[in-house]
Amino acid sequence: MIQVEEATRKLMAKARPLGAEEVPVLKALGRVLREDITSPFPIPPFSKSAMDGYAVRSVDVVAACEESPVELRVLEDVPAGKVGRHRVTKGTAARIMTGAPIPSGADAIVMVEYTERTSEGVRIMQEAPKGEHVAPVGEDVRKGQRVLRAGDMIRAAEMGMIASTGRSKVKVGIKPKVRVLSTGSEVLMPGKELKPGHIYDSNGYSLTGLAAARGAETKFLGIAPDRKGALERKIRSARDFDVLILSGGVSVGDYDFVQDILLEMGVTRLFYKVSMKPGKPIFAGLQGKRFVLGLPGNPVSCMVTFELFVRPLLDVLLGKKEVGPRRGSAYLVEGGKLKPGRRKFLRGRLHETDGRLYVRLSTGQKSGILRSMVEADVLVDVPDKVDRLEVGSMVSILYLE
Ligand code: AMP
Ligand code: MG
Repeated sequence: MIQVEEATRKLMAKARPLGAEEVPVLKALGRVLREDITSPFPIPPFSKSAMDGYAVRSVDVVAACEESPVELRVLEDVPAGKVGRHRVTKGTAARIMTGAPIPSGADAIVMVEYTERTSEGVRIMQEAPKGEHVAPVGEDVRKGQRVLRAGDMIRAAEMGMIASTGRSKVKVGIKPKVRVLSTGSEVLMPGKELKPGHIYDSNGYSLTGLAAARGAETKFLGIAPDRKGALERKIRSARDFDVLILSGGVSVGDYDFVQDILLEMGVTRLFYKVSMKPGKPIFAGLQGKRFVLGLPGNPVSCMVTFELFVRPLLDVLLGKKEVGPRRGSAYLVEGGKLKPGRRKFLRGRLHETDGRLYVRLSTGQKSGILRSMVEADVLVDVPDKVDRLEVGSMVSILYLE
């Protein structure tokens, strides 16, 4: 039995980013960027007005106020999308709208609220220091500035940022093909009638969800019974994949054939059994360059082992910069006794009080209590030797998605 870190190392040592593809920026949400994004021009590309009002020379409106307004002659209207034709010179102004380029000669904007149109021009009733309500060229991004890095996750803000550099397409990591397969003669497809001694499949669903949420292209292959022939046929039906995830049948029961069959099918073992709770019986192997993982059947164990091993693997395949779940720390709301021996990943929920993060452990910590995962937003990572958790002590946490 090996430790979590060693198992992770063995798996990661074999993982390389898959190729990249170009997709429309509008389709890039949740994908991993595979190129640096630099802007070939400053953003905004020109100095622009941040307000509707009048473009003026700040020296012309010094000390302007309601009691002693300054009268200026209006040269033209500059709406957004147009470039003014006249230079603002002493005693003149241009009507300007938000987003329109600052006309040459002008260096400040007076908001329309502090002006009054007259038959001859405009009455300015507030002074405007140089630069007032002006968004200068390059205020957001300098020319040539790198705004995003390869390996960044593309969220909505990144989509907008990429688009504002003029790009409509972007290079992203190819989605790993993940195939999910459940095993167990007692496991039944939801939608069918429940029979005595059977349970509905949950792993196939939670694992497909976890993989899809990481950015994989997923397919659920269904359920294989605990019979060698049927199991092998089901595994073979996976064909085209980067990562095959099985759940169940990987322990030491009389009908746990998963590891045997995988080895017989030519899968080479990277590791089997990791010193952790939940999740001890876990198999990781390689078929050529493709990964095969046999996760434990208990619904919590299989989700936790996904987070610890499959998630970082998918991150690497996608070319992500940040690999695996984000770590942090929080204070324990309540304590308790633990059986020492194996590293534990307890389910917990975070809350914040007075700027401090606290974690409350889920009530059911047995590996069959899927409800604990529904309630949880973090895993509490407890070292193997710890036999009691003290109230108020600081613990290490792993964020679930
Ligand atoms: P196993 O790892 O096959 O020994 O299964 C451990 C426990 O998890 C057993 O109680 C199984 O019934 C249960 N289990 C296995 N596969 C699934 C599944 N796909 N959905 C829900 N429970 C499962
Ligand atoms: Mg089983």
